[in-house]
Amino acid sequence: MRATRVVEGLAANTPFIGPERLMRENGLRELVRLGANESAFGPSPRAVAAMAEQLERLSWYGDPDSHALREALAARYGCAYEQTMVACGIDDLMGLAVRAFVEIGGVAVAPRGTYPTFAYHVAGYGGRLETAPYAEEGEPDLGALAALAQRVRPSVVYLANPDNPSGVFLERDRIAEFFEALPAQTLLLLDEAYVDFVQSDRLLEPRFEDRLVRLRTFSKAYGLAGARIGYALTTHANVERFERIRLQYGVNRTAQIGALAALEDGAHLAWVVRETAAARQAYEALARELGTTTIPSLANFVCIDMGAAPRATHVTAELLRRGIWIRKPGAPPLDRYIRVSAATPPMRDAFAQALRDVLAERSMAVP
Ligand SMILES: *Cc1c(COP(=O)(O)O)cnc(C)c1O
Repeated sequence: MRATRVVEGLAANTPFIGPERLMRENGLRELVRLGANESAFGPSPRAVAAMAEQLERLSWYGDPDSHALREALAARYGCAYEQTMVACGIDDLMGLAVRAFVEIGGVAVAPRGTYPTFAYHVAGYGGRLETAPYAEEGEPDLGALAALAQRVRPSVVYLANPDNPSGVFLERDRIAEFFEALPAQTLLLLDEAYVDFVQSDRLLEPRFEDRLVRLRTFSKAYGLAGARIGYALTTHANVERFERIRLQYGVNRTAQIGALAALEDGAHLAWVVRETAAARQAYEALARELGTTTIPSLANFVCIDMGAAPRATHVTAELLRRGIWIRKPGAPPLDRYIRVSAATPPMRDAFAQALRDVLAERSMAVP
């Protein structure tokens, strides 16, 4: 047997190793989960109640149109129902966008070392990825990305804002300028997984053009990562394109109910955003105490400078041995940082104490 040329040509590739596997492989019975930017503050209690109340209806398929949720999203963002699309998280939507717009053998562009699912889909659908490195200060290099796009004429450019793994938020004028600097045939896939942590007046205004697809999720600020539900805001024409290839019953009914209730619980979201800001400040203070720095973040995680990539790798492994799961960026110039998710005070304290211990053991020397 042979699979398709595309699949046979792929290297074994796991963009994410889950904490469950890390626990199995390291014989850990407990793990403080600070590696995937899951919400430590949980979903809205109203969302949980709404889902719990309807659990017996798991015998039903969800509404394949996600109609109620899309109506609510359209009302929230002042757009048409037809300009919204619901799927199993941004990771799913990203796959639809790549499948819809990147030809086999076609080229796409992204920052080198950014959130990995885009590259995974580009490879999986037979495209080719070109990358531009982050700027030295740790933010996506918009100038280099635009120049690369002008040179290779990709069908899609991917950018996350706020960015992952850096946490940097690029103000809306810079995003607008970047969008204008792309070739006229290039679509901007703008991953806004963390926009709920940013004041809405700082975001790119709502605009609906075929060249712009914005991706959002209930996984982060809304605390519903395990429910797997997210949405896209784009033109009706693009939604119709995605409709042709999407999984009709991919989004589960319980998630639809939870997402709708979560969207309506503004007070819970505001509380999570406040707690997240407090967590970022605590990590910044910890970094100062340890004589190092962070990259300014508006997301629910912070990158802490470990000085050199081998040291960041070592610290990550040592923290895991102590039952603390974080991640570290893989590509320079961000590979000397560790990335830690916002969390409750007890989780933060566990992380802080373990980090102090690890750094004390090795002193501040680069291994
Ligand atoms: C967490 C994350 C996602 C994943 O979103 P889902 O809706 O859970 O698939 C997508 N993009 C970025 C930048 C993320 O950090």
